[in-house]
Amino acid sequence: MKKFLIFIFFLPFCNFVFTDAKAGTLSLDREIIEDRKISFPDTNEFKVIVSDLHTHSIFSDGHVWPNIRVEEAQRDGLDLLAITEHLEYQPHMKFIPNNDRNDAFNEALVANDDKDLLIVNGAEITRIPPVGHMNAIFIKDANSLFNDDESNIPIAKELLKQYPEAGSWEENDEVSNYYALTSVWPAEKAIDEAHSQGAFIFWNHSWWTPQSPQGISILTDFHKKLISENKLHGIEIVNGVNYSDEAFQIAIDNNLTIIGTSDVHNLIDWDYSFYKGKHRPVTLVLSKDKTEKSIKDALFKGRTVVWFKNKLIGLKDNLVPLLKSSLSFKSLGYEAGTFILKVEIENKSDSKMMLKNISKYTFSQNTDSFHVDAHSKKIIEIKTIVKLKEMNLTFKIQNAYIEPSKNPKVSFFVKI
Ligand SMILES: [Zn+2]
Ligand SMILES: [Zn+2]
Repeated sequence: MKKFLIFIFFLPFCNFVFTDAKAGTLSLDREIIEDRKISFPDTNEFKVIVSDLHTHSIFSDGHVWPNIRVEEAQRDGLDLLAITEHLEYQPHMKFIPNNDRNDAFNEALVANDDKDLLIVNGAEITRIPPVGHMNAIFIKDANSLFNDDESNIPIAKELLKQYPEAGSWEENDEVSNYYALTSVWPAEKAIDEAHSQGAFIFWNHSWWTPQSPQGISILTDFHKKLISENKLHGIEIVNGVNYSDEAFQIAIDNNLTIIGTSDVHNLIDWDYSFYKGKHRPVTLVLSKDKTEKSIKDALFKGRTVVWFKNKLIGLKDNLVPLLKSSLSFKSLGYEAGTFILKVEIENKSDSKMMLKNISKYTFSQNTDSFHVDAHSKKIIEIKTIVKLKEMNLTFKIQNAYIEPSKNPKVSFFVKI
């Protein structure tokens, strides 16, 4: 995302560029697309995989064909995209019967002309509380994860009478009745089937106010049982523009993988204005290599960091190595005749880094807090009092969280 500021600066002079670009003669728009690719450096041990594990298309309640999801993923430089349609909520069923629930995934595969983008099949299992919404990804066949047996219609009618949230909010009766009918089939059976297919299963937007009016994530007995049976592996702490401290704490307390997703239904660019410095939330997966097998393994092992509204959120063991690979410190030597050391800090990541000094040294041109822009360098002047040959500088990284409200402290070695 490094060049977008330059782009904004020149914007008033660039109308002609866009006119030409529309005619296909100039490639500035392609350069912008190149710059918007989400980019974080690999850690010493792992490759950093950029993923969005929760997306919708017109095959459930999204509003675009799956090829748009694929093109957006390519533009954002995603390494992995999961297609996760609601199995039960089918508001476009009049136009798209969707008899094969793998169709959205298959359409996405057809649209993917970029071998750098991995696409995996998924589904959103959708129920009223206490189940809520759960994503199963890396599934083999979505059709085994739902059941619309019409002999359940009488039970579905009762369900609708008893629980308005089972579908009566939906104006179209056909859609509402179908949602209630498919909700009759126990979620446990869908989860068992996903589990038997080797799926990675996570709990979506557990704080969602239609299902949790106070907006607080609460771990229910249903979810505790799934965790004890090893059938629930992760939890969203970020969904779209929403974040939950409580979900983050549930992840920590129950050893669930920390997930952040867009859950996009419209266009990514409508939801996250790249030109205003915004970005879609993603899960950064610390994987041995860029294969489906390794990425899935890393998810099961909890090696993730969420990037959300320029904040990096994850367990210390995952987040600190990412911060250490993102920021590098280089001595430029002492200013002549002084004990003031110049140090250049380089930020190789897409995230603007907010640093607070907690070393014993003070700076001559900065307070204890400053930032280093994404893909930028900054020089600080340090009053070392005596001449040193090496030093450790320690900062609190204030845009990073290893627990709710807790920033990591990271030390950087500087050879002078
Ligand atoms: Zn949902
Ligand atoms: Zn969703």
